Amino acid sequence: MRVTTACVALLALGLVIETSRAHPLQESRKRRSEDGTVSYSGYKLFRTDVPLPQLPVVDSLDSSDGVDVWSWRYNDQRLEYELDVLTPPDVEQQVKQVFSDYQLNYQEVIEDLQSAINLELGDDELLWNRPGHPMTWEKYHSGEDMNQFLDYLQGRYPHLVTLIEIGKSFENRTLRVAKVSTGGENKPAIWIDGGIHSREWVSPATAMFILHRLVEFNWEDHEIISEFDWYILPLANPDGYEYTRHHDRLWRKTRSINPEMPKCVGVDANRNFELKWMEGGSSSNPCSDIYAGPSPFSEPETRAIRDFLLENKDQLKVYLSMHAYSQMWMLPWGHSQVRPKNYDDLFEVAQKATNALEKSYGTKYRIGTIPELLYVATGSSGDYALGTVGIPYSFSLELRDLGRYGFILPREQIMPTAQETYDGIKAMAQAVFEKLQMTNSTQIGA
Ligand SMILES: [Zn+2]
Repeated sequence: MRVTTACVALLALGLVIETSRAHPLQESRKRRSEDGTVSYSGYKLFRTDVPLPQLPVVDSLDSSDGVDVWSWRYNDQRLEYELDVLTPPDVEQQVKQVFSDYQLNYQEVIEDLQSAINLELGDDELLWNRPGHPMTWEKYHSGEDMNQFLDYLQGRYPHLVTLIEIGKSFENRTLRVAKVSTGGENKPAIWIDGGIHSREWVSPATAMFILHRLVEFNWEDHEIISEFDWYILPLANPDGYEYTRHHDRLWRKTRSINPEMPKCVGVDANRNFELKWMEGGSSSNPCSDIYAGPSPFSEPETRAIRDFLLENKDQLKVYLSMHAYSQMWMLPWGHSQVRPKNYDDLFEVAQKATNALEKSYGTKYRIGTIPELLYVATGSSGDYALGTVGIPYSFSLELRDLGRYGFILPREQIMPTAQETYDGIKAMAQAVFEKLQMTNSTQIGA
């Protein structure tokens, strides 16, 4: 089994799952179609609720090669974990036997993952293009399309949009931040990144939509947008994203190559930041999906983000990182159960944001620190933003859904997901602005 949660690894009420011994689906074992793409034909996604005493079921699943636990969500009312378990066809009976041995009921949530992936990709012919750029919110676009949209925005709205190259990925793709600013000096700033984990496709799609709203519908929310400078990095892991589009839809990490372990590619970028690095909820095994890397900031992508945040730390008041899935508005810390000093402020802002987010479609989010909602995760960007850079409002979001489709969120849900997230972020900006005015201080304390 490879422990590859929506975002974080686990430490559940004292039960530590030893992630470093996790053995992911071996590259050689993955079935590939003629064009080299990994096929998930016949893979099923099972959902099961696991009361705490039965949690060792995870160890038993571990013996089934290729099983991948997509997500763990802790339900503190029912004192149980909801597990989404991706199961290859050849071990399906074995996994069902494990469920039965532990007397766990389960549901089949996705009957055939490859069919879900094919539906998600859909038929591009049906889509229309806007003049000047190929971007829509009706399908999941390539990194190239996203770049064209960024170029378009800068060309069409030069008074609002400036593109900043903050670095290069391992495979030499440019990491591009779009700055949206109505001008003026000494404004507070908001950072938003998407796509740190490459298989969470709705995250970069949502980041692009937010950019579209900030720029092309600037007049609609002009007042609150103008109170801040906005820095958006829609695609923080472009190599991984490209890999998910052409080779393996479920790739999560970067694509860096470790010469000592050339068969195990990539690092979990959200375990690679230097704050309590490798102190829990991450793995030292290069083959693991939550591999923290050979050292903190071993990845050019995390270094680029670090450098930009540090360079702009006086201006930045909000750090927001978008992941998927589980519908959570998460607060620091990820590295321990201890709450940050400004927890009450963070919580209040998150509450306003999620209330606004819920209005359009009734989508409910949970709020809490990462271990409260999931489990301990160290080396995350959100912890680094608050703890080291000192950005007072640091949030990590898990967008839709709750596991019906998981990472393979149908394209019809891009627009509502992006729209509601934008509503939440707008309310967050408003709430932070009011707090900054009240405190009239840049030190909220971490
Ligand atoms: Zn993630």
